[in-house]
Amino acid sequence: MQVLKYLKQYRIPFSGLVSGKHKFEFDIDDKFFDCFEHSLVKKGKLKAEVALQKQENMLIVIFEITGTIKLTCDICLAEFDSPLDFKERVLVKFTEEDWDSETEEVITLSKTDYEFDVATLLYEYINVRVPYYSRCVEQGINITCDPEMLAKISSDDTTESNEESKIDPRWDILKKIKNN
Ligand SMILES: [Zn+2]
Repeated sequence: MQVLKYLKQYRIPFSGLVSGKHKFEFDIDDKFFDCFEHSLVKKGKLKAEVALQKQENMLIVIFEITGTIKLTCDICLAEFDSPLDFKERVLVKFTEEDWDSETEEVITLSKTDYEFDVATLLYEYINVRVPYYSRCVEQGINITCDPEMLAKISSDDTTESNEESKIDPRWDILKKIKNN
């Protein structure tokens, strides 16, 4: 319920708008990402500028999203701000019947709808831009992998694997039993 309430601010009430161009702005922050349980992005600070062109049977909606999302470097484990700046465009068509041919580019709403909920779209647009593999050197601003951290990680790795090889195999069986 709390989530639904928070996301209410990401709706565009288009029914009362006259034909022509309209602009909206939305702030996207940590609380926004908290609303989506499976969000890859947990923290970020972005702005979505939405240009909406209202026509008789259609809305043309252009999103311009700029800001940063927090990523964790897969190499040195540092959290860093990764900049995003992109545009997306979607057509919203109104139809009376259920229309299954909804694509990424075309969204259908019922003729009785009066609001366009952009929360899920914003969430998806941002989450698909999360790289599969994050490196602060490549995706961050003015940041390179922390050499001390790298040294620490690599020395941890060697001690771990040395210890593991020394462990009596029976311990492994015991460990498995314990974990169950
Ligand atoms: Zn790094």
